[in-house]
Amino acid sequence: MATPKEHLVAWLRDAHAMEEQAETMLSSQSRRLQNYPELKARIDQHIEETREQARRIETCLERLDAGASSIKDISGKMVALGQGLSGIFVEDEVVKGTLAGYTFEHMEIASYKILITAAEAAGEAEIAAACQANLAEEMAMAEWLDQHAAGTTRKFLNLDQADQTAKR
Ligand code: MG
Ligand code: FE
Repeated sequence: MATPKEHLVAWLRDAHAMEEQAETMLSSQSRRLQNYPELKARIDQHIEETREQARRIETCLERLDAGASSIKDISGKMVALGQGLSGIFVEDEVVKGTLAGYTFEHMEIASYKILITAAEAAGEAEIAAACQANLAEEMAMAEWLDQHAAGTTRKFLNLDQADQTAKR
């Protein structure tokens, strides 16, 4: 049996690994995008947000005396999942990227909802607030992707039909 605080520490570490993987995935998407400037700009904004999210989690772990030294060894944990989502060197890369991004944001949303509950249960109001800040950014990104998925898909289909570079 673990205490609520021990669970909180473990889940914060998982979230930190998730954010490192998010940065990797988003950076590779942004680097490759050429014909979707609006999508690229939103991804670039979310890369900055993602870095700040990771820093917020580091501050939370330091508050719990479970700081940086313990973060390093778990950062590879989510790599397999991230590679599955970001290994998108396929002919419809931008569409697969939208799918992967939408999926990843919703995993992040679920993670922060769990963390907020765990932080409250452990009496850690400041950690709950930090997770709330991260959650708001993930929800905004998910909402943006939701609103732009149709437009991205139509643009892909039009470019592809016109024999232009559609995939990215
Ligand atoms: Mg995030
Ligand atoms: Fe995110």
